[in-house]
Amino acid sequence: MPASLRAWIVSQGEELLTGQTLDTNAHFLAGQLTDLGLRVLGASTAGDRIDAIATALRDALGQADVVVCTGGLGPTADDLTADALASVFGVPVVEHAEALAQVVARYEAAGRRMAEANRRQAMLPEGCDVLANPVGTAPGFALGGRPRVFCLPGVPHEMRRMWALHVRPWVLSQFDREPPQRHLFRVLGKGESQLQDLLGDVPERFPGVELGFRTKMPENQVKLVAEPGVDAFAAAVDEVRSRLGRDRFAEDEAVELAAATAELLLARGESLALAESCTGGLVAHLCVTEAGSSRWFERGWVTYSNAAKVDELGVPEATLQAHGAVSEETAAAMARGAVERSGAHWAVSITGIAGPAGGTADKPVGTVCFAVVGPDVERTRTLHIPARSRDLVRRFSAFAALDLLRRQLLRLA
Ligand code: ATP
Ligand code: MG
Repeated sequence: MPASLRAWIVSQGEELLTGQTLDTNAHFLAGQLTDLGLRVLGASTAGDRIDAIATALRDALGQADVVVCTGGLGPTADDLTADALASVFGVPVVEHAEALAQVVARYEAAGRRMAEANRRQAMLPEGCDVLANPVGTAPGFALGGRPRVFCLPGVPHEMRRMWALHVRPWVLSQFDREPPQRHLFRVLGKGESQLQDLLGDVPERFPGVELGFRTKMPENQVKLVAEPGVDAFAAAVDEVRSRLGRDRFAEDEAVELAAATAELLLARGESLALAESCTGGLVAHLCVTEAGSSRWFERGWVTYSNAAKVDELGVPEATLQAHGAVSEETAAAMARGAVERSGAHWAVSITGIAGPAGGTADKPVGTVCFAVVGPDVERTRTLHIPARSRDLVRRFSAFAALDLLRRQLLRLA
């Protein structure tokens, strides 16, 4: 039975139907439910009309064992999910003291006065279970045994918290055995077809283990999945890990490239500076996105013009003249300058042609030069990135820069 547990996702909100908001909630939930081994049979979207929401919920409940609905729990007149669900179950909407207490407590904690309209958020279908929302005002609620429907707020981070707190544990409790075994590898520097060549024989060698690929530009992900009793799973994980070698930067959804690189820097007690030209601060952005980056990220320059490279980083005019701004020589001089002027242990530099204009026969759009300079280390590299768009060249370059440093640190480890 668990393998056939069926799910349906209902997204509620007029803004999803007018193209104002991208439905990232359905995307997130589909991935999470699938990862738990459920079959997501469908997803539907309803605007701000009770009958549309009720129809979507009724259809979903008619086909699935669990329905996850997001949105429409707020205090305003267009927040109608509770009314719609009540009509589907044929129960009235009543004030839930527990829900009201949560809303009141939320406002008190924030030191704000609760508006009368917020009382509406405690008007929920009779008999529902109120789900605490630790990160927002709108409590969620759940109704029914099987099928069971969970209504969560639309705000993505609240929805994710409540998924983890309320829905996921319920789903796990429905299994009469363990959920499937899963393992994720996050990879840079190998395309899907290369990964297929490298790992294609794994399912054959480890019977019961399935192999899947996913691209999350510029990274590729390898997923191994097996039913609970498959003993070969651990050996398959080890085998894939060793075949991927340094191309694998993480094995955790939550560990980004910058965090994986930071871990290596922190292990050495060292710091990083950046000298960015065509990425315009994108590498710095990736770094400071990580909590605690002040422990290892020292500073970054965006030196876009030649004059900036000379003034800010001390790149010799002669280097620029002899080799051009997009050259390994200039990249090396940028990184050296960044180390000298920042006092950081390491610097990474990027200089390239993001396009769409500015390419030459010699250095076409997508030509990007990098340097990594550190204690007794100086390495340079040129990549020819398929120039599908300016954004893509910049994004690829930013990841490539950090990855170059990561690989260098691994070599020293
Ligand atoms: P609130 O108490 O904040 O009103 P709510 O449950 O009523 O919560 P909505 O009003 O539907 O939620 O949406 C709140 C915010 O979350 C909006 O900015 C909306 O664009 C966003 N949002 C809603 N549904 C989705 C979704 N499916 N994907 C991404 N964002 C969403
Ligand atoms: Mg709302």
